[in-house]
Amino acid sequence: MTLRVGIVGAGAAGVGAAYALRNADAEVTIVEKSRGVCGRAATRRKHDCYYDHGANYIKESDQRTESLIRDLGTDGVVDIEKPVWVFDESGEITEGDDGDSHKWTWTEGITQLAKRLLARTDAEVRRETRVESIVCDDSEATWSLIDTEGETHGPFDRLLLTPPAPQTAEILRATEWDGERLGDATAAVSDVSYRTIRTFVLHYPFREEYSWYGLVNVDKAHEVGWVSREECKDGHVPDGESLLIAQMSPEWSAERYDDPLAEAGDDAAALVAELLDDDRYADPDWVDDQGWRYALPNDGVDTDAVRATEDAGLFFAGDWVVGEGRVHHALWNGHEAAERIVGRAE
Ligand SMILES: Cc1cc2nc3c(=O)[nH]c(=O)nc-3n(C[C@H](O)[C@H](O)[C@H](O)COP(=O)(O)OP(=O)(O)OC[C@H]3O[C@@H](n4cnc5c(N)ncnc54)[C@H](O)[C@@H]3O)c2cc1C
Repeated sequence: MTLRVGIVGAGAAGVGAAYALRNADAEVTIVEKSRGVCGRAATRRKHDCYYDHGANYIKESDQRTESLIRDLGTDGVVDIEKPVWVFDESGEITEGDDGDSHKWTWTEGITQLAKRLLARTDAEVRRETRVESIVCDDSEATWSLIDTEGETHGPFDRLLLTPPAPQTAEILRATEWDGERLGDATAAVSDVSYRTIRTFVLHYPFREEYSWYGLVNVDKAHEVGWVSREECKDGHVPDGESLLIAQMSPEWSAERYDDPLAEAGDDAAALVAELLDDDRYADPDWVDDQGWRYALPNDGVDTDAVRATEDAGLFFAGDWVVGEGRVHHALWNGHEAAERIVGRAE
């Protein structure tokens, strides 16, 4: 019998699950609130530039992510060559220990990950559809999704929830089902907190050369958490121009989350100029931004509580299930959940 699988969220975890089911006897439907796919691994295109304004790249030291990326087609794959250096509270920049690991994206941006994975599946993606609650039909052992327009999606034999923990918890709180197991799962998911990051995209009509691609604040005491140069990714920025991605610290980001772009962007650019010791960076010719309320999980969920619903057909995946905000963790976590869904793994 063909298994009907519903997945909430088309980020790395949801798409990784759909990909893992591509050869199974399964009909997969993904319901995604945004217009695009790939979630927090996000790309925008503006003024002839591509930029990854969420996750900067995919990194993994073992071979399986690299093999997967190559299997998806080497055309347009970018392995950022320059290293990531570090800086401290005082703004002192020093060479980091970037090791030999790869830093992957694509000329058309990191969303290629989800686009290429989905292209190898028959999964249907219902975009711009926000799930509000789920309903279990115990007599049929099926699950349905109710979106914010009141439409129903399903029924599904198996359901996989992949939004960040606070958004998954919101869905669970709006759901009625087996009191104890749902209560335990909801409490466990609600316990996972996230750091907030506001990202600024700063464009300049000039280009400087540096030995680094990115700079990360290692003592977590600077107002800038991360700065990187999109021009180090082939195909992202026209020659002679530069485009900096500045991710502000969680404290700065939470405090300035709703400030107008003009004002907050000026302040962020001034901090970047000070860090790079070059006044020209205080005056970008255009800016863009994105607030990530739920950027990176602080810890992982209590696995027993979220696994306890699996025998009823309700599964969870995402970076918060692993406990670390990384694209490859989310991807493989979704992949592994799909293997349990079709009973290929414990
Ligand atoms: C600023 C920033 C920088 C980062 N840098 C890196 C990096 O350099 N390298 C790295 O490996 N990782 C990085 N990360 C972390 C990485 O992006 C995440 O860990 C990973 O993308 C999480 O994937 P996911 O599938 O678990 O969740 P998500 O990508 O969040 O996917 C969940 C999906 O669910 C959808 N959704 C949410 N609620 C609903 C709903 N109610 N109904 C329907 N759909 C819903 C969302 O729209 C989203 O598409 C960064 C993250 C941020 C924010």
